[in-house]
Amino acid sequence: MNTKIIPYGRQSIEKDDIDAVINTLKSDFLTQGPKVLEFEKKFADYIGAKYAVAVNNATSGLHLSVLSLGLSKGDRVITTPITFAASANCIRYAGAEVWFADINPNTYLLSLESVRSLLESKPKGFFKGIIPVDFAGLPINLEDFRSLANEHNLWLIEDACHAPGGYFTDTKAVNQRCGNGNYADLGVFSFHPVKHIACGEGGMVTTNSEVLYNKLLLLRTHGITKENMQENQGAWFYEMQALGFNYRLTDIQSALGITQLAKNDKGVEKRNKIAKMYKQAFQGKVKFQELPKKFYNAHHLFVIEVENRKGLYEFLKEHHIFTQIHYIPVHTLPYYKEIGYETADLSNAENYYSKCISLPMYPTLKHKEQKFVIDKVLEYINV
Ligand SMILES: *Cc1c(COP(=O)(O)O)cnc(C)c1O
Repeated sequence: MNTKIIPYGRQSIEKDDIDAVINTLKSDFLTQGPKVLEFEKKFADYIGAKYAVAVNNATSGLHLSVLSLGLSKGDRVITTPITFAASANCIRYAGAEVWFADINPNTYLLSLESVRSLLESKPKGFFKGIIPVDFAGLPINLEDFRSLANEHNLWLIEDACHAPGGYFTDTKAVNQRCGNGNYADLGVFSFHPVKHIACGEGGMVTTNSEVLYNKLLLLRTHGITKENMQENQGAWFYEMQALGFNYRLTDIQSALGITQLAKNDKGVEKRNKIAKMYKQAFQGKVKFQELPKKFYNAHHLFVIEVENRKGLYEFLKEHHIFTQIHYIPVHTLPYYKEIGYETADLSNAENYYSKCISLPMYPTLKHKEQKFVIDKVLEYINV
């Protein structure tokens, strides 16, 4: 039937997105102009955080996050093995050690219990922070992680790259949007085209802390600031106060981000409709990511688990359905294997990895295409 490729994810760029970019190209600013500030303001409002800092990608955002929290050589941070490598790499950029804790086998998220036992196996002060990930778009329970972090005096960075628009309802019956900074110190988002909001490349760091906000701004632009300028100084005055980077987002990308952001709620609704159809078709036949009560999954991905994963992957590919595997566990990548940190039991992550496969999930996926994907998955499972 199908000669058109159905990928696991793709961006949707419409006329308003294209017009916004063209208008910015015709304006006075290609970078560091009004669009960056507008995007930051709108993104912070959307997420419900006080501050947002736009960066050139989420990897840079994670790097600035750990630096703004003062992470340094020899420190230790806990994260999940089921994530993109960047969640762990930012810890290494600061010269610190990455310690992995296991996932929950049903939600695929970093397990609170596993983190707790890792923390309790070491003296207090051994670890500095935790980087949990809203994997596949399912929010991590940050209320629980915050109380655990407080017991051990740790900071929390929420890697929310999969989850703009996701939320959970906390014990005070408040909906907590991913990255809103109420429980985590910082939230990080990606605007890579396979994620919800496409800027080409791009990212955002959100926080409610003015202190962290100011550090992020400084480090994003070389560590350079004009804040100490005196009246008698020339307008060229600036100081470099810290060793920062050039991690800025451009106005061109921000213009695209603004129009994309405006459509995010609609996109997340569509993603949830697609998830609902998958679940109805697979219920009782194929295992899929559990959705705990009071959680709203932003569904960057729709992951299922099957016994012969490689077989299914190839079978779908023959039918022009290009699935993906999220992720090869980070602790098994050669770089991390060679470093060889003492690891906890990560058998849930390894077991998950042997079976996981991400099916097509994006707002422009057509009903007919999804039905074709479902039919092919079931056809394969039943043989
Ligand atoms: C995509 C992604 C990143 C990195 O995002 P970039 O914008 O490509 O740097 C980090 N963490 C997770 C969980 C991601 O999915």
